Amino acid sequence: MKTSNYFTTKGIILNSSLVRESDRLVSILTEDMGRVRAVAPGAHKISARLLCATEPGVESTLTFYDNTRNTYVARITGGVILRTFPALKCGLERYLITSKILEIVDSLLPEREPNTRKYSLVLRTLELLEIAGNGRRIYLAFVLRFLKLCGWGLELGACIKCGAAGPPGALVFSLKEKGGLCPKCAGAPEDYGISGEAFLFLKKLAGKPGSEIEKISVAAETEKKTADAVESYLLEYIPRPLKSGMFV
Ligand SMILES: [Zn+2]
Repeated sequence: MKTSNYFTTKGIILNSSLVRESDRLVSILTEDMGRVRAVAPGAHKISARLLCATEPGVESTLTFYDNTRNTYVARITGGVILRTFPALKCGLERYLITSKILEIVDSLLPEREPNTRKYSLVLRTLELLEIAGNGRRIYLAFVLRFLKLCGWGLELGACIKCGAAGPPGALVFSLKEKGGLCPKCAGAPEDYGISGEAFLFLKKLAGKPGSEIEKISVAAETEKKTADAVESYLLEYIPRPLKSGMFV
């Protein structure tokens, strides 16, 4: 809710870095205001409660003050932690996947464009990751959904060129065209990003509810190829190399 220069909203902390003496510049995906950049007062001036509420990967309720001279970097004046997702800090793979998801959101979202669906997706992804046996799948499903919400979705239901639906498995997936191609429109095999089996897996990843993602049965080799294709697709939109990219 925004009243005058102050607003209070829930937010997921995406990134936090030190600026000036010891102030923290924090990037937050908020529920009501989209991505917000804000400064939290330096560690010696900040309360322990606010320090914890601005750690990456937690969800907090935060109060911001918008300086009229620089409305794009707010000041955090108060905060209370809602959720810390402790399981995401246990286990290297989970930790790295979480870091990568937060970094993707931070680098792709413009500032101050509210979108509650993106907020819900990130929150749900963190919840699923906490209990996931296969965090990489949750990650893949997240990337497909998140890019779609950003307006860069893949067309997986029909041929992207002519609209022909065809029987399941009749379309081949082309990364170049960002979707399925029918046999008539499909060009040379080098245009295909992945096999028919991987394409079906991709459709399931994109379409099934999050809780079903881990139950999809697929060959390890197919899963690997699909993951590579999703990563190539993601990298086309990422404006700068991901720091966490090399680990996951
Ligand atoms: Zn076609």
